[in-house]
Amino acid sequence: MSEPSVFERIVAGEIPSTKVFENERVLGIRDIAPQAPVHLLVFPKSGEYPNVSALAAADPALLAEIVAVAQQLADEHCGGQYRLVFNTGSDVGQTVFHVHAHVLGGGLPEGRMA
Ligand code: 5GP
Repeated sequence: MSEPSVFERIVAGEIPSTKVFENERVLGIRDIAPQAPVHLLVFPKSGEYPNVSALAAADPALLAEIVAVAQQLADEHCGGQYRLVFNTGSDVGQTVFHVHAHVLGGGLPEGRMA
């Protein structure tokens, strides 16, 4: 058994977080180190999928739900204008291997590359 991810520990209540959405399958929280004026994370409560590629292959309905929750949160928190980012792989900066969508909005950060 691998160690539970930080997001599994947040789901379990072992690490505090600021929740912005929750249902049976999906949690939305504020990122602890925001990279934009609005920076939210949306992820499945289950930690079985390390990245969006694995999730898309195994459970496309759950991926669609994550995108729908991201849209709802963007409507609520940043007027429906946002970037949706799934870092996939350590080479591009993924640090938590529990699939999650970054919802970034509220204006452009300085020095944004993509
Ligand atoms: P990644 O680089 O894997 O795509 O993104 C992981 C994200 O999780 C980072 O933006 C990081 O700031 C966020 N993060 C890591 N640990 C915690 C935590 O304990 N609480 C919250 N709210 N966010 C976290």
